[in-house]
Amino acid sequence: MAKYICTKDPNHIFDQNTADGNCSVCWAALKQTQESAEPRDIGLTILLMDASGSMKTKAFPTGSASRAELVIKNAAEGILSLSNLSNKKDAYVMPVLFDHEVHPLFIKSVEELASPATSVIF
Ligand SMILES: [Zn+2]
Repeated sequence: MAKYICTKDPNHIFDQNTADGNCSVCWAALKQTQESAEPRDIGLTILLMDASGSMKTKAFPTGSASRAELVIKNAAEGILSLSNLSNKKDAYVMPVLFDHEVHPLFIKSVEELASPATSVIF
């Protein structure tokens, strides 16, 4: 439920707006708070990907793909599979590369990633 808070002293809080819109204690203007009625569920997928030098080697003795290529392909497919979620706005993806250090790439919502206007550069 929205409350009305004094713009001069945040300890002056009212359940309803006053007739003149001012604090009845100190007469400063009141501001309505923006409290949402329902809490939102927010999800975060962290894609932790090995980016060390050994990832340049072949994934399998008989194939041509490197370990890094397989990781990138699977990460991209994993992100694509999230595009069917019903609540894309509150589902976030955070790809992180690691070698001897950790390199977070970005945090974007699935809605942003699914948008044709978004381009992601790894
Ligand atoms: Zn006040």
